Amino acid sequence: AKRRGRNRYAYFAPSMHAGLVEKLDLAEDLRGAIERHELQVYYQPLVDLAGGAIVGAEALVRWTHPEKGPIPPDRFIPVAEETGLILPLGYAVLNTACRAAAAWQHPVPLRISVNLSPRQVQDPAVGLYVRQTLLHSGLPPESLTLEITESLLSEDHEVAASRLAELKALGVRLAVDDFGTGYSSLSRLQSFPIDILKIPKPFVDGVAFGPGQSALARAILDLADALGLQVVAEGIEDAAQAAELRRLGCPIGQGFHFSRAVPAGEFGALLSRGAFA
Ligand code: C2E
Ligand code: CA
Ligand code: CA
Repeated sequence: AKRRGRNRYAYFAPSMHAGLVEKLDLAEDLRGAIERHELQVYYQPLVDLAGGAIVGAEALVRWTHPEKGPIPPDRFIPVAEETGLILPLGYAVLNTACRAAAAWQHPVPLRISVNLSPRQVQDPAVGLYVRQTLLHSGLPPESLTLEITESLLSEDHEVAASRLAELKALGVRLAVDDFGTGYSSLSRLQSFPIDILKIPKPFVDGVAFGPGQSALARAILDLADALGLQVVAEGIEDAAQAAELRRLGCPIGQGFHFSRAVPAGEFGALLSRGAFA
């Protein structure tokens, strides 16, 4: 598009123009990277806060651009969302993660959590895709958790409701990512087949600094308790936060305190090393 000449963009401020061109370039490069299977999937341990055992992993996509180096997902996922590239990208991650996790089911089953973008949930083929992936990978459905964004619950699309019901019927678990940072009414939470609430990092940051700072994390734990939902806290960066969350009754956590997301081979090594202290 940028080859069409400059006057087409006459109404853009120069900085907007540069931003748009950069985005289009990024989208083009991302398309190529997906086609060439250059994206990688890393795994961040989900840890039992009481005993330190690894009980699962969240799959997180990684992209190292040949010239620009590593590009953070927060930069290219929104571009993938806008362009529709999130569909091939998301299904590639799902496929890779399920295959890896199928090898991590012994001696104890391990949960694998995969992020599903709003656009994927709106895709009519999403149910079929997940079902095929489970079949081909041999992963038991109950070992797969799909993380969705809270916005899906708030927007008044019945499409999302029926898609989520369809996914749930496959036997997978559904988690709400960054719960409490979007806008969803609590009444809608109950009408969706949700299993897990994830406490977002900003709510975890101050958790060890006293009741005022831990109020939001506690509110989510109470809500989950009342509704019979499970909870995972994310972004745990130190031992004090882990200890306080454990004291508040949060069963599972993830964060740099335990481990960053690592390649599959390294995750396998973490698993065989046993529990975190
Ligand atoms: P998210 O789903 O909330 O994933 C958690 C993010 O927090 C990850 O960032 C993870 O590396 C980071 N994190 C975990 N523990 C800590 C900690 O203790 N401290 C800090 N500072 N950060 C921590 P990452 O991998 O950069 O991903 C960012 C976001 O990009 C994700 O947020 C998710 O929304 C999106 N994303 C990543 N992979 C995928 C994917 O395969 N599909 C989709 N749709 N989105 C993805
Ligand atoms: Ca997530
Ligand atoms: Ca999150």
